[in-house]
Amino acid sequence: MRAIRYHGREDARLEDIPEPSPKPGEVKLRVLYNGICGSDLHEYYHGPLMSMTRPHPLTGVQNPVVLGHEFCGEVVELGKGVDDLKIGDLIAVEPVQTCGVCHWCRAGQYNHCPRPAIHGYSREGGGLAEFTVVLRSMAHKLPQGVSAQQGALVEPMAVSYHAIARAYPKPGQTIAVHGGGPIGVGAFLALRALGDIRVIISEPSAERRAILSRLGAEYLLDPRSVNVVEAIHDLTDGRGADASIEAAGVAPAFKAALASTAPMGHLVVVAMHMEPFQFNALSLLAGEVNITGSKTYCNDYPAVIDLMARGAYSPDGWVTTIPMEGFIDRGIVPLHQQRATKIMVDVAGTAGS
Ligand SMILES: [Zn+2]
Ligand SMILES: [Zn+2]
Repeated sequence: MRAIRYHGREDARLEDIPEPSPKPGEVKLRVLYNGICGSDLHEYYHGPLMSMTRPHPLTGVQNPVVLGHEFCGEVVELGKGVDDLKIGDLIAVEPVQTCGVCHWCRAGQYNHCPRPAIHGYSREGGGLAEFTVVLRSMAHKLPQGVSAQQGALVEPMAVSYHAIARAYPKPGQTIAVHGGGPIGVGAFLALRALGDIRVIISEPSAERRAILSRLGAEYLLDPRSVNVVEAIHDLTDGRGADASIEAAGVAPAFKAALASTAPMGHLVVVAMHMEPFQFNALSLLAGEVNITGSKTYCNDYPAVIDLMARGAYSPDGWVTTIPMEGFIDRGIVPLHQQRATKIMVDVAGTAGS
């Protein structure tokens, strides 16, 4: 079968590799769509980061590895003991295998497991292959009416959902989202679906602002041409945003978010900051802002799938698809240049080509 494998920095190859088969407790999927994630860009240009140069303690997997952790597929074969899924079921994959025995796993907070293996980085297989095999526990069956493209959005939307949940949004509030990439879009769509929440989005890319505008975002700020802190205060009678989601990953966005969050509000950092930076902690005393991080997701898939079934996450207008052959030139490169928001590889549609 065809698969895109990561061998090391700036080295991902479309290759022919053996088709996997499911062991007991596993599910074999024919992959339909796989989204390219910001972490795939980091891996490609700066890695190995998430993938392994020595065997992963849980799975023994090391590079080269099939990439792809945001994907949807249909069940083609069930391993022994899996009797609650059917051939043809549409599945969104939660690409995380945890140890199951550490303090955090036993407490149900598995996103803090210190030894997670990620499908598409450190497990056998990934979503950028015609077929892949996952544990039954990683497979979330999608309800009628949710499309395969939407299914491939569940993973990044779960990242956004976990982040907004940590901001404790309430009806009537104003929430600022700094960064209008896929995680920012996911935060906007989820906050809108929750209802009666005004969302202000700051995003420097004109292309991404245009996409957000088409999705219905009303309060869009260009941090290169307006003072974001003043603009947010102007829109909130001088109070600041009730909560802020920092999905940009650059120091100016964090500082703007901190300075424009209302006293006792929440500031949630969900972006991957690759560079350290300084900020004046005096501003924490002034505003008593609760700063926190948000790490992937933990039991968030059902809520996202539920919102999806109710129409919250249309891929129209912000998701584009490419063939497997285009992974680098039409996927990694334009995302790196921020010329697109979410690019998905149409794996099934181009599998045989
Ligand atoms: Zn991702
Ligand atoms: Zn664990």
